[in-house]
Amino acid sequence: MSKNTPENANVGHGHVFPRPDGNRMRCGGPGMCAECSKDQARKDARATAHGEYVKALEAERDAWRNHSSGLCGPLHITKAIARTDAARLALGQEPQ
Ligand SMILES: [Zn+2]
Repeated sequence: MSKNTPENANVGHGHVFPRPDGNRMRCGGPGMCAECSKDQARKDARATAHGEYVKALEAERDAWRNHSSGLCGPLHITKAIARTDAARLALGQEPQ
């Protein structure tokens, strides 16, 4: 992650992406403030994209589970599970 993203720089209003200095503008936050609403939309879009990524990984994992015959099957399943679990954790979901 770059140094200048809103997540880790002292920029933005602090409601959606917390600032390192802990400050929050008295703007009302998402729904009240255009800047914060924009941040919220960005955060939601990212969560949606990541959610779709997780779904794709889960589908791939399940496909390997259903195709476990052959020498390399178990290895692919192990890898697919690890990838899926890591992606789920990044989304704040428990690994399955
Ligand atoms: Zn704001």
